[in-house]
Amino acid sequence: MPPVPDAPQNPTPRRDRARSGSFSATGTSPDQGGGGEGARGLGVRDVVVHYRDDDGTMATAVDGLSLDVAPGEVVALLGPSGSGKSSLLRAVAGLEPIAGGRLTWDGADLAGVPVHGRGFGLMFQDGQLFPHRDVAHNVSFGLEMQRVPAAQRRARVTELLEVVGLAGFEGRAVASLSGGERQRVALARSLAPRPRLLLLDEPLSALDRALRERLAGEVRAALTATGTTAVFVTHDHDEAFVVADRIAVMDLGRLLQVAAPADLWHRPASRRVAEFLGYEAFVPADSPRGRELLGTAGPAGHADPAGPPDDAVGRVLALGPGSLLRADDGAVTGVVRSAGFRRGVVELVVAVEGVGELTVVEPSRGLLGDAHRPEPGDQVRLRADPAAVAMLPG
Ligand code: ADP
Repeated sequence: MPPVPDAPQNPTPRRDRARSGSFSATGTSPDQGGGGEGARGLGVRDVVVHYRDDDGTMATAVDGLSLDVAPGEVVALLGPSGSGKSSLLRAVAGLEPIAGGRLTWDGADLAGVPVHGRGFGLMFQDGQLFPHRDVAHNVSFGLEMQRVPAAQRRARVTELLEVVGLAGFEGRAVASLSGGERQRVALARSLAPRPRLLLLDEPLSALDRALRERLAGEVRAALTATGTTAVFVTHDHDEAFVVADRIAVMDLGRLLQVAAPADLWHRPASRRVAEFLGYEAFVPADSPRGRELLGTAGPAGHADPAGPPDDAVGRVLALGPGSLLRADDGAVTGVVRSAGFRRGVVELVVAVEGVGELTVVEPSRGLLGDAHRPEPGDQVRLRADPAAVAMLPG
């Protein structure tokens, strides 16, 4: 869908906060409804989205969800397929009616405000470019609808093509563009009218993995450079970590946790969140195995995030790729199940009794020359890296 034509001008970039750590005041609780009615930016309060199935029964896609998005902030909605991300996004856009709750912008209720009156931009997986317009005329579409004078349109198109890394592409035919270039043009087109909120629904998921990873960084750079407030839907946690100031993890229509990327990774609020982020094994912290892992972390491991052993009672250690390191004096032993190279690192899948299978990551440089490359069946000694073990509530 093209950008909303009558989007108001967004006066100045409002990205006045540094990315990391700046949102800790909002906490990591799923309830982000604390902004109040007068809060600036997007307010989502107890929103419910229902669908009526063919047999007439109601299915709940969004189940009383609350979330604030501050001006200039990029929030990723992250969750498995079917968790309600698109339904929420479509409700915010005005494309889906809400069955309960309230949506506000700068405190003003959006009920009754049609899609085109909201001043929001939309971008989808398939950028839906106009095939018969060249790149410049695709990017300038929303500006034409706004009756922006031609000289200003040209200047804005040039500016946006630079922002998305396509300087000089004005005259290119859409058919001559690669998939990644098309999505860049679609992004430039959605940004051109300066939407007060940009809603992106899996904008990179049709691209291959390597391109997706690179473009995710570029999307973030473009949103940041233009000071755009955005909600970015994805099922890919790597993408969410790259793009967002805060990540809202959804499951079954509800929010499980909202946090800045580093907080989310190191302090998942539950096992469900940790599993979804890629943590692989869970060990009761006060079990013999858990105590051994905490013990092997050494004194430093008793600080953040594992906490002193007294705090471990009833809690659970979450272990993921990188939580265990190979160490000749490591107290934990495991058996290598598989060994693979990936861009300068070796990933060993190691079975550890009482823990499960875990990925051990290490630089492949250590295996240059005659060094023995671990093979399936080898026994290895391991120790925990305290900074890479998360402590979950019990
Ligand atoms: P996600 O974006 O996280 O994949 P969706 O919002 O698309 O999730 O879907 C949430 C739930 O709502 C799913 O169970 C899905 O099958 C259902 N759903 C989505 N769109 C419709 C629709 N148009 N009609 C009926 N059910 C729908």
